[in-house]
Amino acid sequence: MITAVRGTYDILPSDTPLWQFVEARARAVFQRHGFCELRTPIFEQTELFVRSIGDATDIVEKEMYTFPDRKGRSLTLRPEGTASVVRACLEHNLLAQQKAVRLYYCGPMFRYERPQAGRQRQFNQIGVELFGSYSPLADAEVIALLVRLYEELGLTNLTVKLNTLGDADSRLRYQDALRACLAPLQATLCTDCQRRCATNILRVLDCKVPACRDILAAAALPGMQATLSDAARAHYQQVLATLTQLGIAYHEEPKLVRGLDYYSHTIFEVTHTALGAQDALGGGGRYDGLVTEMGGPPTGAVGWALGVERLLMALRAGATALPVPPAPVFLIAFDERAVQENFIIADALRRAGIAAITAYEKQSPKAQMRQANHAGAQIVLMRGEDERAADIYKMKDMRTGVESVCPAADVVHHVTAALRGA
Ligand code: AMP
Repeated sequence: MITAVRGTYDILPSDTPLWQFVEARARAVFQRHGFCELRTPIFEQTELFVRSIGDATDIVEKEMYTFPDRKGRSLTLRPEGTASVVRACLEHNLLAQQKAVRLYYCGPMFRYERPQAGRQRQFNQIGVELFGSYSPLADAEVIALLVRLYEELGLTNLTVKLNTLGDADSRLRYQDALRACLAPLQATLCTDCQRRCATNILRVLDCKVPACRDILAAAALPGMQATLSDAARAHYQQVLATLTQLGIAYHEEPKLVRGLDYYSHTIFEVTHTALGAQDALGGGGRYDGLVTEMGGPPTGAVGWALGVERLLMALRAGATALPVPPAPVFLIAFDERAVQENFIIADALRRAGIAAITAYEKQSPKAQMRQANHAGAQIVLMRGEDERAADIYKMKDMRTGVESVCPAADVVHHVTAALRGA
């Protein structure tokens, strides 16, 4: 038997209503905030991700699904959404058309990580990007959007973690301070981190190797705050003050750096208590340098991505009333002719907006009733020789057990009334 590839999985019919619920709520919240959807391809030129995410990051060094196409061009399954969104905006000149451009995306991402609970190789993200503003209000807007979306989904026990990476100058000073702090520890770090101490020292802070994490947790690392320029500090303070005005609780986390090179200023992560080791529900930050890096005009930008699988784990762990699959009407046939008759009535019900299922062949009434129960039917309609003679349908309301009859020509009307509880 051929099975799904390690780190990938099927979303089964019992789970898709929850996915659809989350996606529909997210779309409604985005619409209310003025964000429009952008759909980009699943694969891109490898260079796009190397240039944007950074060649010393875990994603680019170890996690990308990269392959040559039949003409030998290097392609990569997208490991995240922002690079593609920026590419598409530049390719279609979207950023020149209005001052602030608000976009969102939903879809699968691919990273060759070690699969475990909450970590897959194909996983789904929902993300937003806001282009065209350097204002701290834009940072606050997208952070608030993430929190409001989680609230709308009924999620509680969230922690919003915030930090700032400052502007380019602040970051250079911070890297020097970090280098001085890590120099005596360098030999004890993994070989990747030893190399990163020279090439891209910030990436040492998000190494996933347990020994490195322990060493870093014990080290008295410098806080970013001390090396911030005045302008960067003022930007960050206004983000914090605005979040406070919005009533959004946050936690400052001086060691938060996030694993992608393109961030500057505000970075944030939302964690949830029910998720265990992989507790990051979503995260993002400001990335003012990325659009120019990709060949566009200087453009302020801030965004985030949330992991849908982890969001569902948190929802299942919580007290949120989760959606149940639609309960259809089930039509039982007592004889062969009724199978055909039911099929036609089912079509009429569906055209009236009512979910309906029929059997394709005559089975015992008991077997069909079992199927009706299995489908979660609220109403069961029955037809056989006696019903045909009287040109009626027998109807059973499965919620109350009450049985009734209705004229065959009036089935849609009766079922509609019954489902309304009339
Ligand atoms: P990132 O793009 O790394 O900032 O990830 C944003 C969010 O996507 C994380 O907070 C997770 O919820 C989710 N995520 C990232 N990587 C994975 C993965 N391998 N499996 C499942 N979810 C993931």
